[in-house]
Amino acid sequence: MASRSEPPKGLHAVIPRSDHTLSRGILSPAALKVLQGLSDAGFRALLVGGGVRDPLLGIKPKDFDVATDATPEQIHRLFKRSRIIGRRFQIVHVRDGRETIEVSTFRASTENPPDQEGKDPFQLGSTGQIIRDNKFGSIEEDAFRRDFTVNALYYDIKDYSLIDYTGGLKDIEQRKLRIIGDPLQRYREDPVRMIRAIRLASKLAFELSPETAAPIRENAMLLQDVSPARLFEEVNKLFLAGYGHETYHMMLQYGLFEALFPEANTLIRSDESLQLFISQALINSDNRVEQGKPVVPAFLFSVLLWPQANQRYQQLIEDGEPPVPALQKASQMAIAAQQSYVSIPKRFTQNIREIWELQPRLVQRRKNRIYPMLEHPRFRAAYDFLLLREQSGEQLDLAGQWWTEFQDASKEQRDLLIDALPGNSNKRKRSKPRRRKPQGNNNP
Ligand code: ATP
Ligand code: MG
Repeated sequence: MASRSEPPKGLHAVIPRSDHTLSRGILSPAALKVLQGLSDAGFRALLVGGGVRDPLLGIKPKDFDVATDATPEQIHRLFKRSRIIGRRFQIVHVRDGRETIEVSTFRASTENPPDQEGKDPFQLGSTGQIIRDNKFGSIEEDAFRRDFTVNALYYDIKDYSLIDYTGGLKDIEQRKLRIIGDPLQRYREDPVRMIRAIRLASKLAFELSPETAAPIRENAMLLQDVSPARLFEEVNKLFLAGYGHETYHMMLQYGLFEALFPEANTLIRSDESLQLFISQALINSDNRVEQGKPVVPAFLFSVLLWPQANQRYQQLIEDGEPPVPALQKASQMAIAAQQSYVSIPKRFTQNIREIWELQPRLVQRRKNRIYPMLEHPRFRAAYDFLLLREQSGEQLDLAGQWWTEFQDASKEQRDLLIDALPGNSNKRKRSKPRRRKPQGNNNP
């Protein structure tokens, strides 16, 4: 790719098929169908976003985004399995097999600030009526509404050319993430662009251009005005996409972690082992992603919120609360305290609490609870969590190692491991299992 200077607004660089390295082969079958379908119906149809950017860097794209001059209704009429979504700015989700292609109509440039919820115009989730901002524009206007230059490259299905209005190709060559337009204004319009900057820089191993990086620290707290539900989705993308560890450290560095997790931030800054705990968890998740294993929000949030749960737990114990209710209360309070920043949907909070509430039981290892514990739906997650705590320096009576051995052991070895458990819970239980033995065998 020849290096070229940033084309001024109003001019643009069209790089013909013969002069770039992208081939149709990068397109998924669904993306190809959608582009071809639009094009055959006489509309402009271009691939944009990560689907263009990533292949130029030799990375397999996560998903494909399409831009077109067809209106949402026209798009919807063309594809049977499609759904118009979004309220402030409508986009269309076209499903094909297991893929979803996000199709958006070229957006007009507008002076309108984003709505109160700080909604990302390209990422709306809820359905509803169209309001003022559903204004369509030219492809060029569309380019300048996008966030970073490398995200505003278009691959035109009509002649397989690449179109670059903002100097994105040069930035790809130089591995620079550069925000389009006036950085402060763009971050104010949508503060989520600050975390997208960090996420993409980590994902692509790009540097933030100085003017892109400069306002972030000072404006990090703008994130606190973004809807907590949207931030839940963003946090998952930040930490569960395979480069969470790097992202976490950049988030700390730029003050963005503090904006999202203010309590946890204070606690980890004064306790090295908590730092280690979160870092190690994210390294493990990144490894899991690399191995194609699933990673889930509940585990992630059980880790990120553990500092504030554990602190409350210790405090309640100190105040004389018995351990079991203390932990239940602490869990509830820690989650509640987070909801105004990043709100965690109910379907996950139960699992988070279970992971925490199993911790003392995994350490105690009451003899008659060992086998039921193995069957607990959250055992695996709670055990992984316990290992993490030990890895980051907590002394937990070597319980993690014990459970590791126990899971790998034969029946005989397991009996020995249970027999060898120390502590007075041992003594108390010694007579009980004996008395209950016949019954216990029938009803495990
Ligand atoms: P990836 O899919 O790898 O996370 P992506 O860049 O494709 O990266 P998406 O969230 O899929 O990210 O968004 C698709 C495109 O929509 C982006 O490339 C960008 O052009 C535009 N976009 C997304 N979010 C915003 C935003 N907050 N402000 C402006 N443009 C955005
Ligand atoms: Mg994408």
